[in-house]
Amino acid sequence: MIGLSLAWELVRRGAKVTVMDSGAIGRGASWAGAGILPPAAKSVTNDAYEQLRSLGHQLHPNWSKRLLADTGIDNGFRRCGGIYLARTAAEFATLKGNEYWWQEHSIDFEALSTNGLVRREPELAPIAETLKGSWFLPDECQVRNPRHLQALAKACLQSGVKLIENQRVERLLVEHTVVTGLESAGQIMEASQVCICSGAWARESFQQLGLQTGIMPVRGQMVLYQGSQPPLSSVVNEGHRYLVPREDGYVLAGSVEEEVGYNCETTDAAITQISNWAENTLPLLSKFQIVRTWAGLRPGSFDALPYLGQMPGYENLFVAAGHFRSGLHLACATAVVMADAMLGKLPPIDLSPFRPGRG
Ligand SMILES: Cc1cc2nc3c(=O)[nH]c(=O)nc-3n(C[C@H](O)[C@H](O)[C@H](O)COP(=O)(O)OP(=O)(O)OC[C@H]3O[C@@H](n4cnc5c(N)ncnc54)[C@H](O)[C@@H]3O)c2cc1C
Repeated sequence: MIGLSLAWELVRRGAKVTVMDSGAIGRGASWAGAGILPPAAKSVTNDAYEQLRSLGHQLHPNWSKRLLADTGIDNGFRRCGGIYLARTAAEFATLKGNEYWWQEHSIDFEALSTNGLVRREPELAPIAETLKGSWFLPDECQVRNPRHLQALAKACLQSGVKLIENQRVERLLVEHTVVTGLESAGQIMEASQVCICSGAWARESFQQLGLQTGIMPVRGQMVLYQGSQPPLSSVVNEGHRYLVPREDGYVLAGSVEEEVGYNCETTDAAITQISNWAENTLPLLSKFQIVRTWAGLRPGSFDALPYLGQMPGYENLFVAAGHFRSGLHLACATAVVMADAMLGKLPPIDLSPFRPGRG
């Protein structure tokens, strides 16, 4: 996602770009994600991460329109709203506290009564009375990430980006402080600039260069239900778990956070845990069919911030990785700030909190 987004941004600014992926283009964590785009600050904020989220949130609708116009692919971007449920006192306290944060950042929200929740989402009626509280955030959006990736890849190809699949970058070729190219499948490819966008695997490139990094894989697992029509109109969130209704009757249920290295297999235990929670929250789901399960490796970082910018000690080497649970949301904004950094323009956001040398 990050590599394709950056490539599309760079090619539209006149650069000549090649994207090389060790697997199929547009798979990785980006394919596995849920595509939730939670609301972001509408008012001015000094927090660089919040500025990045805010820029990303603003760019998604326009990128989606442009991708549709250029490729004919509807990426499923919808402003569907998000419901936040509190079943326990701790969840209630967190969400009640969030009200101050939402207010401060001009994020619209509505605290729902039991009736208000059921009016909005009638299929949540069986649990409505058991909740300690619930909130509606109208500005939560969703995108169908596999379709978004397909659209981005097509738009890149149409604009002249070279996409090379199933070819791993084995080594960066370095002369003093300059990267001259890379080695892959026994071949040398020259490059005037390189940006590492390999998600959870970016760790390997840092290590090869002898640089420290806090990037690590954090596995998430997902359950896909299929019914004849959507049982919800909004995304439903409870803590780190969520239900994402798609317009054609599919519902995604996720997820978990597991530190198990580069193991991308699903486990019975996690799938059972997710489906139990999903069917308990939305009992109608027990009448739906589970049609697929999968896992993906989020690129986590030690301080939950991505690494964005120039690699310390290198004139023409950049990195954009470590977006953890928000890489889909942050992709457009990352593309803009990284294209600025690579083309020598001052990015609209101070990138120093994201500097690659930290940690
Ligand atoms: C279950 C789950 C749910 C999620 N839900 C959301 C969500 O709702 N909203 C959101 O914003 N984010 C979500 N995320 C997080 C989001 O998916 C990631 O932050 C994002 O996909 C990271 O994008 P990326 O391009 O950096 O990494 P990836 O998509 O993993 O891409 C990295 C690519 O690098 C390639 N690669 C690796 N090593 C090499 C090499 N040596 N040479 C060449 N290529 C290489 C890989 O093949 C891969 O294709 C979710 C993630 C998971 C797993």
